[in-house]
Amino acid sequence: MKPEAGDLSVSPTAWDGGWLGAARRCASPNFGPRPEGARIDLIVIHAISLPPGVYGGPEVEQLFTNQLDWDAHPYFQQIRGMEVSAHFFIRRDGELVQFVDADARAWHAGTSCWRGRGNCNDDSIGIELEGLEGEPFVSAQYDCLTRLCASLGGRYPIAHVAGHEHIAPGRKQDPGSGFDWTRLQQDLGWADACFPQDTRPSTRMTT
Ligand SMILES: [Zn+2]
Repeated sequence: MKPEAGDLSVSPTAWDGGWLGAARRCASPNFGPRPEGARIDLIVIHAISLPPGVYGGPEVEQLFTNQLDWDAHPYFQQIRGMEVSAHFFIRRDGELVQFVDADARAWHAGTSCWRGRGNCNDDSIGIELEGLEGEPFVSAQYDCLTRLCASLGGRYPIAHVAGHEHIAPGRKQDPGSGFDWTRLQQDLGWADACFPQDTRPSTRMTT
């Protein structure tokens, strides 16, 4: 039976290779092969909007496909020439877009280290949420993110979920304080050990 649009069932048939059937494809040229034997066990959560704080436009998809007009906004001077990507992008209305085959290596993490391993692009899945560091995200995004993480967990040996701020501390701040880690953890029902220590409910409830 064909899944409904937006249905991110964990069934293997939800996938076409490393492409998720429920996502709208917007193929990015910014990717490469993963190292041989890479164990894809980490999901990295990001926040992005272009220009920052402006939602709903085509600029993020243009950035990830090397089609952004760098002269269209003053902020774009700061990112001029960047060739980046993420595997997935979740818009404020809950739409899911996929740029890179999840079996391949997307360019979202930069210099990074997590669970004792560096170069997180090698063995992680990058998910961008349309948003701004410090600002809240919306229910439709959590719903989509939960289904996406569950679906990824059905295809890859996912054991860790972290923010860009956790894998590149001091250099990156996304998704930031507006991201509700407790909600994601509770919706997924995954163990504390899957999440950064400072995001765990038990840690936050002390002090
Ligand atoms: Zn990021």
